[in-house]
Amino acid sequence: MRHIDKIYINGEFVTPRGTERQELVNPSTREVFATLALGNEEDAKLAIAAAKAAFPAFSRTTVQERADMLQRLNDAILARTDELAEANILEYGAPRMLSVPRVQLAAMNLMISKEALEEFEFVHYIGKAKVVSEPVGVMGIITPWNASYSQITAKLGAAIAAGCTVVIKPSEMSGLQTQLLTECFDAAGIPAGIINVVNGLGATVGAELTRNKDVAMVNFTGSTRVGKEIRRATVDSMKRVTLELGGKSPYIVFDDADFSKAIPAAVKSCFSNNGQACVAGTRLLVPEHRLEEVKQLARAMVESMKVGLPTEADTNLGPIVSEKQYNQVQHYINVGLQEGAELVVGGAGHPAGLEQGNFVKPTVFANVREDMTIGKEEIFGPVLSILTFKTEEEAIEMANNTDYGLGAYINSSNLEKANELATRIQAGSVLINGAGFEMKAPFGGYKHSGIGREYGVHGLKDCLETKTITGYDLPM
Ligand code: NAD
Repeated sequence: MRHIDKIYINGEFVTPRGTERQELVNPSTREVFATLALGNEEDAKLAIAAAKAAFPAFSRTTVQERADMLQRLNDAILARTDELAEANILEYGAPRMLSVPRVQLAAMNLMISKEALEEFEFVHYIGKAKVVSEPVGVMGIITPWNASYSQITAKLGAAIAAGCTVVIKPSEMSGLQTQLLTECFDAAGIPAGIINVVNGLGATVGAELTRNKDVAMVNFTGSTRVGKEIRRATVDSMKRVTLELGGKSPYIVFDDADFSKAIPAAVKSCFSNNGQACVAGTRLLVPEHRLEEVKQLARAMVESMKVGLPTEADTNLGPIVSEKQYNQVQHYINVGLQEGAELVVGGAGHPAGLEQGNFVKPTVFANVREDMTIGKEEIFGPVLSILTFKTEEEAIEMANNTDYGLGAYINSSNLEKANELATRIQAGSVLINGAGFEMKAPFGGYKHSGIGREYGVHGLKDCLETKTITGYDLPM
């Protein structure tokens, strides 16, 4: 049994003041493999004080110095790729085939921030004014469990590029991954106090970060429920917030699309990250008269995917992260059945032979109506809901008929139409005809999916204050 019993404050691994411990559970076996010492409010305050003390010097570093730091952080992560990938498999249940790319993505986020930093103009002129961009201050970074490495590095990269010092509160369910990643940060030789990492619960460490007056900005990824709590809690101290929240993204396949490509791609999108991706296309919208064909294609795609131990090289879908999340997914599958959706494939319970862990049957429902629970709420598991439309107008209305607005997918052989319809979708990212994400471009949500944008230049700008100076050229 491993015991992770340190947090990282002011360039040192220290024993937290908090005395609570949390068990870390392997989602493939439900066996405890480690314990994690949790920090408390006092630890958060010490970390904030360290970040505050480091800020004046760090905020005055040159672009070159910060670009070098980002490079060193990237290199330190890549140097431990295999270990980080193994931790991702053990703690999170990530399929082996995806675990190394995950680590590489985390490192790449830092290089994207480096590029943005090197291109950014921190000083420009408007009329008779000099306009200067300055780091906003100490940043609290709060992240979820579903993509711990890349969530942390996306936010950290932007902060370092801007010149902000940080206190990171990762998910308490990512203790092992956090420990390894923090060791990489330490190995990168970043001056003390710039990066601090405090494990702990949202109600203690997270809450301190959101209310403490010395934290200028909170950059949060997680559920919409907690995002709203954080926004409320940051009002009195007038913090800036970037919130990356939940989604129920529409995957629209128009009549003129190539269904043999688009439907398997839709299933893949919904089931990405074991069905635990914020931006997954979980509502598949198809023309009513093509439903039977869609059901067949979706079933065939699901049956071609292997659910299994994440350690096995050919596994496509591993377990759900925790028993709690597993139960939530089961709940939604049962509600789908009770509310009268048609089960196309999958269903409640474990897949045969995988009863020991949090494995779920990848599930597709057809004849889902917009007023059904599974048609509206974020499930965060491999459960796809197929809804039908009669006209393109209705498809767009349905796509937008949600509180969320994170992603949307459009498939059509008429590119002109697809581009026109993309302008009518209320979502932060629209992906046409199976295109992937552009990681240098802004990412974030409309409506209840969030506030602000991450990645590249937009992520950097979110961490900057703007100062207008007039008279800068006026001799006394
Ligand atoms: P969560 O909201 O439960 O927790 C996220 C983080 O917030 C954790 O570190 C948690 O400890 C902390 N937290 C909880 N309560 C808090 C409080 N009162 N104050 C401060 N911090 C608090 O989310 P989760 O279950 O870890 O992750 C899944 C959710 O994240 C899903 O809703 C998913 O859509 C969302 N997500 C969004 C994106 C995006 O980019 N939009 C990306 C990944 C995940």
